Amino acid sequence: MKALTFQGKEKITFETVSDPKIESAGDVIIKMTSCAICGSDLHVYHEREKGIDRGTAMGHEFAGEIVETGNSVRKLNIGDRVMSPFTTSCGTCFYCQSGLTCRCVRSQLFGWVEKGHGLHGGQAEYVRVPLAESTLMKIPEGIREEEALLLGDVMSTGFFCARQAEVKETGTYVVVGCGPVGLMAVLGAVNLRARNIIAIDTVPERLAKARDFGATALHALNDPVTDMIRDLTEGRGADGVMEAVGSYQAVRTAIDLVRPGGVVASVGVCNDDHLAFSPVEAYNKNLTYKIGRCPARYMMEQLIPLVQEKKYNIASIFTHRMKLEEGAAGYTVFSGRQDHCLKVLLRN
Ligand SMILES: [Zn+2]
Ligand SMILES: [Zn+2]
Repeated sequence: MKALTFQGKEKITFETVSDPKIESAGDVIIKMTSCAICGSDLHVYHEREKGIDRGTAMGHEFAGEIVETGNSVRKLNIGDRVMSPFTTSCGTCFYCQSGLTCRCVRSQLFGWVEKGHGLHGGQAEYVRVPLAESTLMKIPEGIREEEALLLGDVMSTGFFCARQAEVKETGTYVVVGCGPVGLMAVLGAVNLRARNIIAIDTVPERLAKARDFGATALHALNDPVTDMIRDLTEGRGADGVMEAVGSYQAVRTAIDLVRPGGVVASVGVCNDDHLAFSPVEAYNKNLTYKIGRCPARYMMEQLIPLVQEKKYNIASIFTHRMKLEEGAAGYTVFSGRQDHCLKVLLRN
């Protein structure tokens, strides 16, 4: 089969790789029909995360049709259309049972093979999915495939971020970074009925989208962000900040904007060795700082009814649609934010 493979820093190629095979009784093979490029794929692309083998099929946002099932698979059948979270999960361990599916003891991340071990990704014609019955979900009635892709990661992550930031109807909430996850965090806050949502970025079209979704959009450099938030909160600062970037600077901004006793929630992939704030700063602010990967499998289940209702036009964040074979160009466009690119959908 063919797949978009990692070949070194900023080098993704559409290559022939070996076909995935059933390796365990709980595996299925799916024929990928659509997939997306994620901001966290860019960490790999730019080699900010080390260790991935060359030749690894990229990607962890995908949907498709089951074409082969392992011997123990009962709840899924050949021909089922399925969506996937970005990691596998067993459904029975302590973490799966408590809703932290991202920390499943048998969890594997799609699109990460290191020293020959791991899972190839979804930006490929076929994908092997281990623990298939507890990882995959059949795409329910009324959910389009492109919406299913967003459920598998960025929508779940954005809504998780809003939940982590303890967003309520009253109060002032800030989203730092209006990429796909930040935009979904805006919707997550809207969905928790927050009346005052401030979204911060520097890219005009991202700010326009945040405004569309219901936030007051502020340019990080051109608008007096700190003063405006102080004005809204009698000088206190934001009650909660959703940090959707993962960089030192974004966390720093979040810490500066949150009020004493407030919450900062970080969901962007983090590769830093040190925090962007000191213990004394946290102490003096009575800060609550929450950080970590979204339990996407758990969140997907919660969010399905909302997507079925079509309450929000989530798929409008896809600005570019291409064929899988054109995916290398998709990486260039997405990473360079060329042509106002916000998110790339690839079809097989
Ligand atoms: Zn993703
Ligand atoms: Zn588990």
